[in-house]
Amino acid sequence: MTRVDIAGVKVPTGHLIGGERRAGAASLGVRSPIDGTPLAEVPRGGAEEVDAAVAAAREAFPGWASLGPEGRGELLDRLAALIRERVDEIAVVETHDNGSLIVGNRRNVIPRGARNISFFADWARRRLGGEVVEGKATRDHVRYEPAGVAALIVPWNAPFMLGTWKVGPALAAGDTVVVKPPEWAPLTLSLLGDLALEAGIPPGVVNVVHGIGEEAGAALVAHPGVARVSFTGSTETGAFVAAAAGRNLVPVSMEMGGKSPFVVFADADLEAAARTVSRQFINAGQVCLAGTRLLVEGSIADRFLEMVREETARLPVGDPRDEATRIGPLITPEHFRRVDGFVRRAIEGGAEPLLGGGPHPFGDLYYRPTILGSVSQDAEIVQREVFGPVLTWQTFDDEEEAVALANGTDYGLAAMVYTRDEERGMRMAEAIVAGTVWVNCFFVRELASPFGGARRSGIGREGGTWSFDFYCEVKNVSVRRGSFEGGTP
Ligand code: NAD
Repeated sequence: MTRVDIAGVKVPTGHLIGGERRAGAASLGVRSPIDGTPLAEVPRGGAEEVDAAVAAAREAFPGWASLGPEGRGELLDRLAALIRERVDEIAVVETHDNGSLIVGNRRNVIPRGARNISFFADWARRRLGGEVVEGKATRDHVRYEPAGVAALIVPWNAPFMLGTWKVGPALAAGDTVVVKPPEWAPLTLSLLGDLALEAGIPPGVVNVVHGIGEEAGAALVAHPGVARVSFTGSTETGAFVAAAAGRNLVPVSMEMGGKSPFVVFADADLEAAARTVSRQFINAGQVCLAGTRLLVEGSIADRFLEMVREETARLPVGDPRDEATRIGPLITPEHFRRVDGFVRRAIEGGAEPLLGGGPHPFGDLYYRPTILGSVSQDAEIVQREVFGPVLTWQTFDDEEEAVALANGTDYGLAAMVYTRDEERGMRMAEAIVAGTVWVNCFFVRELASPFGGARRSGIGREGGTWSFDFYCEVKNVSVRRGSFEGGTP
């Protein structure tokens, strides 16, 4: 089996189908965004490999489902323990692969991957007993049954965390899975396949097919043998994915792009707000839920801008392997050109760079944290997701205007509101269309709470019962009581 060495960690590069690693005829080169170093070649799978992986997952399904929540939970706990043991190794591979910060990967992102698995193993133990509803004429036993094979599609900005966030509930519910890792950063999910086997999860329960979205991804989401499609990625791709799954009438869970407003009122704790604004640049802004549209009450705008500039200046741009770095590279030259294109067009159209506004000298894929002012609500830079370290700056005079600006895009993933007035915080939270509104905080994601987007940011929610129920088929077994035989009692 082919493996590559990433900073001392041996990473498998083949597809994983029915417990076997497979190479492919064509391959895809993977380069590190840190400095362009070639890291690996992964096979470029397509319909044939997807067929084989779905067949392997279908074959493994009855055995996995029949283990029940206890049997599966034991193996999932082992997988979570292996991830915990290997946090440093997985973190270093993720950092090389997608340029995310080593410090964040070690402390938060990879440990969260382990929790994504163990949390849902526990959830299944509690939930799969089902519920009983005492009706007038029947006793209803509500059963949560495994749905079948789940197709899981993940983006490159946090593949391990987002992959385990799907794999955890799917496996706990009793589904088997075919994972399509992101072609720009496929290595940690390739590693997850090995960890699953090492934990004793039977071959065929976790399958991994590498390849590009339009080939392997498209074949997987359109496959008639799949019972659930869970997708995280851009809104544009999501529309194709939902349409393909729709043709087979397969339920979808869609986590897509965002253009989240970050609203700051004059009465807010401005220091805390400015610190949090600067955190929107972390991971070079390649974070779906980042508050990329700053909406600031006019009376404090000048002072607040100075505070944001000071906070951002404290964030070193550089090599993400360095513990002190807070802003690393963009993922690929192609993505870099996309981000820079948005900024250039905005400036040509009259936007004023209040901070940054172009490439950073540290290296080819590094970009200055950028804030663009003098933008109108209908400008491309305000309406479209950039997915880089680029924020827009608008001011408002009152709550009503803040709400209108906040809701003035097609997205609805998240929003942040900073104010000391609790009632205003709640009024804003009610008025803003979004899956999550953070009041005086940011990025807190409890595993049991729903996460997802409204409007063009998503369909459905992930987290707790929302994830778990998605991977189950809910069945009601209605048993007669007494003499009642049918119809309305
Ligand atoms: P993308 O849509 O280009 O790709 C996402 C995944 O879909 C990749 O694995 C890709 O190979 C696959 N894919 C592409 N075309 C496909 C097709 N036709 N059929 C099936 N699969 C296909 O997104 P990206 O550039 O990898 O990631 C960035 C995007 O992801 C941003 O829009 C970001 O906001 C979003 N995102 C959302 C969340 C969330 O939870 N809402 C989290 C992280 C990222």
